[in-house]
Amino acid sequence: MRAKFDTIMLPIANELIVPEQRNNVTFTGFFANTMFHEVAHGLGIKNTLNNKGTVRQSLKEHASALEEGKADILGLYMIRQLLDKKVITEGKLEEYYTTFMAGIFRSVRFGASSAHGKANMVRFNYFQEKGAFSRNEQGLYSVNMEKMSEAIDSLSKLILTLQGNGDYQGVDDLVAQKGVITETLAADLARLETANIPVDIVFKQGKKVLGL
Ligand SMILES: [Zn+2]
Repeated sequence: MRAKFDTIMLPIANELIVPEQRNNVTFTGFFANTMFHEVAHGLGIKNTLNNKGTVRQSLKEHASALEEGKADILGLYMIRQLLDKKVITEGKLEEYYTTFMAGIFRSVRFGASSAHGKANMVRFNYFQEKGAFSRNEQGLYSVNMEKMSEAIDSLSKLILTLQGNGDYQGVDDLVAQKGVITETLAADLARLETANIPVDIVFKQGKKVLGL
């Protein structure tokens, strides 16, 4: 995780986040956002609330992208709650939010064929619509803390409601409207390419590495 943070997250922040917020992209934020993403998978709705069977069966090919989107957003929701309750004592909310924002650029690069990539496209466009971040003329992004909290809450509600209702059509519409990369975003992602920031890195492991 540290290697991913150093070679992908920090360079992305330097390229796309406004200088005054770059210090908020931290390993603490990256680690917690990822860990609570996994915790959030274990919580939430597995069966629809209207006898349509499991959420996975109802949402078919969209089930994974929506579940990944749920885990991201509820993970962040939990971090805010736990900070408020002083259960998490490390880091400021600004760190978790700004690191999350940089993480969207990282994950959108996985592309539409990946559930994580798709979920991040939907969230990017949703956040933009809600004013959770803004982009200046230099193409640098900044997080609006208050609107980010509102967007997290409303997107959490939207996703959980779609899952609870097993609303395939609703998810299909959401993905069709928001699961896209706009021209501006595509151009910004191209800057990451130009800066030679890797999409992902590989942890070499196994018997050969160990010389066995
Ligand atoms: Zn996940």
